[in-house]
Amino acid sequence: MSVSAIVATSDLKPRISPLTQARRVVIKVGSALLVEGTTGRVNRTWLDTLAVDIARLRSRGQDVLLVSSGAIALGRRQLGLEPGRLKLEESQAAAAVGQIRLAHAWKEVLEHHGLTVAQILLTFGDTEERRRYLNARSTLDTLLRLGAVPVINENDTVATSEIRYGDNDRLAARVAQMISADCLVLLSDVDGLYTSDPSRDPGAVFIPEIPVITPDIERMAGGAASTVGSGGMATKIAAAKIAVAAGCHMAVSLGHEMHPLARLESGVRCSWFYPSATPATVRKQWIAGALKPSGELHIDPGAAQALRSGKSLLPAGVTRVTGRFERGDAVIVRDAQGDEMARGLSAYSSQDAEQIRGRKSGDIEELLGFRGRDEMIHRDDLVITSAQSSA
Ligand code: GLU
Repeated sequence: MSVSAIVATSDLKPRISPLTQARRVVIKVGSALLVEGTTGRVNRTWLDTLAVDIARLRSRGQDVLLVSSGAIALGRRQLGLEPGRLKLEESQAAAAVGQIRLAHAWKEVLEHHGLTVAQILLTFGDTEERRRYLNARSTLDTLLRLGAVPVINENDTVATSEIRYGDNDRLAARVAQMISADCLVLLSDVDGLYTSDPSRDPGAVFIPEIPVITPDIERMAGGAASTVGSGGMATKIAAAKIAVAAGCHMAVSLGHEMHPLARLESGVRCSWFYPSATPATVRKQWIAGALKPSGELHIDPGAAQALRSGKSLLPAGVTRVTGRFERGDAVIVRDAQGDEMARGLSAYSSQDAEQIRGRKSGDIEELLGFRGRDEMIHRDDLVITSAQSSA
């Protein structure tokens, strides 16, 4: 793959930062920034400068939501837990202790600027179940309308390993989508996306702009992995896919320096992902952003072409069914190369899908004993999630 194919032209670079122009902004702050590595305490000097930046955004009339990590890192020190990997129940306990400190730190630094802080702890189901998603959205909307600054984290104290986000990158993107933000900033300990891991490959090329997330870009996710916190580059690309489909800009930016948002606005080096030209409808955004699809449908090239031209997925085009899912569950659709190209809600369970794959819709009744939908995934329940490979 040639680098020129993936590095955007500088024409795209806006003169005014998308952060400055946004109406609604989500800022994700990683643990490695918020918590001092040596002392395990809140990095207060730095946080004060971030609060100044946030207050400036608010004074311009911009809505700001924070997705803040750091609960586990702060709590483990307080509880005297040894360095190294924590057991699930230890991280739950650490989060319970650390979250109070985290919320308190945000309250102190933002109240200083006359801003009211609201704590929101989300569990996986709050964004992945449609009814709860709508409920969480209305709470956030109300807080923003009342002028508060929501500070969001995963509710790590009750989250178990099977049902948790585990990283705040994707949580932040789901939040950005939920409240129709137009800019998401991931303040991180890496300055952006590279063609490969720059710590191992001296030839790694920095990518300042990503107009479209192609399969090539997704393959680069192995590069520039963050060393602290749980979000490597893969979760950042996953977050970007959710954000751009929702019409939201996303930046991956180094957050270590003082006043990280002011720096971003002044144009420091970072990677910008641009929203897709035609954001999907709100329902389709939610489908596309599903964090844990329960199965996969592999399809043939003819079906892939049909999907790209806006058609439904018929059983005839499905070559393989993997995973276990029920009717109505979100599934990933993979092309003949095995690359993800779409997501959708399956009209059949995995068992039934296995029976009817490769067959004509007219045979469904005979094969299953009931007359289901003609489509495996109806076009209204289907979203193309990946641009065609440039290769
Ligand atoms: N929710 C975790 C915490 O507050 C952090 C997750 C992450 O590092 O992305 O400690």
